[in-house]
Amino acid sequence: MCSPAQYQVAYIVSQDLIKYSSRLPSNVGRSILVHSLANALGLLSQDYSPHTRLQVIKPGPATLDDLSMYHARNYIDAILLTVEPETESESVEFGLEDDCPRFSGLPEYVRLVAGATITAARVLRFGYANISINWDGGRHHAQKSRAAGFCYVADCVLAILLLKKTLPAPASPLSRILTPNQRRYRVMYLDLDAHFSDGVSQAFYSPANLKSKQVLTLSVHHAAPGFFPSSPLAQLPFEPSTSFDPFTLSLPLLEGASVKTFANIWPHVECIKDIFNPDYVVVQCGVDGLAGDPKCKVFNWCLDVAIEGSLGWCVSRIVNEWKGSRKLFLGGGGYHSPNAARTWSYLTSIILGKPLSLSMNIPDDPSHSGFPLYAPTFTLDVPSGNMIDKNTAEYLADVQNRFERVSEILRGVLQSQ
Ligand SMILES: [Zn+2]
Repeated sequence: MCSPAQYQVAYIVSQDLIKYSSRLPSNVGRSILVHSLANALGLLSQDYSPHTRLQVIKPGPATLDDLSMYHARNYIDAILLTVEPETESESVEFGLEDDCPRFSGLPEYVRLVAGATITAARVLRFGYANISINWDGGRHHAQKSRAAGFCYVADCVLAILLLKKTLPAPASPLSRILTPNQRRYRVMYLDLDAHFSDGVSQAFYSPANLKSKQVLTLSVHHAAPGFFPSSPLAQLPFEPSTSFDPFTLSLPLLEGASVKTFANIWPHVECIKDIFNPDYVVVQCGVDGLAGDPKCKVFNWCLDVAIEGSLGWCVSRIVNEWKGSRKLFLGGGGYHSPNAARTWSYLTSIILGKPLSLSMNIPDDPSHSGFPLYAPTFTLDVPSGNMIDKNTAEYLADVQNRFERVSEILRGVLQSQ
């Protein structure tokens, strides 16, 4: 087993990032809870773990060029309010209404969240860390020219576009000779949020262009009529068809998915990873699939790293068993803010190679103003509830059959690349 001592972890945060992320209308006050709990638990201290070297890195705001890697210029102008006056029809055109209203500080929020994820990607790309974390990122519903599902900026897509780029050629002609024909970088995007990663999956979906693919997206989520977002790409892989892209994969789960179900499907995730053999893995760790999420209410997932199939166990597998790739962990959904803080703090401790005990008490510390919000348990755990797992053996067998077929197809396409 790979020793965690080899890991260098970059945790991206700044006072400005916390200030503006805490204004996000769908998650008001969440960012400050997340980072203040991580700090109160000592996770941001360099000596938290003897096995890892932690750097806390302050992100810069994304530039226009950064945002233009993916977003359309007229959308960037609309969210950064660089074009006046703005009309109501423009708001509708760009999705800036309903669940994505304009809010005070939106331009700063967009620049900082994108800048934080881009910084996290750059520290990996240039080898300053093996793992980087931006819990304020993971806005997986944002589209090229449109805000959607509480997401205004496609930071996941921006990071993937950056990571797949070839590094600048070595300056010395000799070093160029010594590193010939370097393989183009492969980036795997794994989305563990309860909602389908439509913004990211759609961005890289191109069934007619499989020979040059460098990006594979795999979203594990809930899909059902009326459950956001509606997309044909959210369904189980179906082939043969001209619209099938083995690099754009979905693994929808039925209501009540528990550790038992996640343990059942996890080998399919790892099989796809092994075949694709990525240089980088971007993991969106939305926490709205955990039991007790007040908005989502579809899964019955829990945290405990010791339980096979839990969120903590999945993250531990990625950190400790997925060899040969650098990892970027992002946040996402999660509408019980204290539970999001608990979860991302716990996942940080796993990434740092020293998991906290879930029975520990939340610190009642003067620097940690959120303490009363952790009632009634005041412990770190987010336990599973009593929801019935509707993922039957028959359904899981169908998932297995489809992923076995997808694996064969993917292997064939990669061999011919
Ligand atoms: Zn979600």
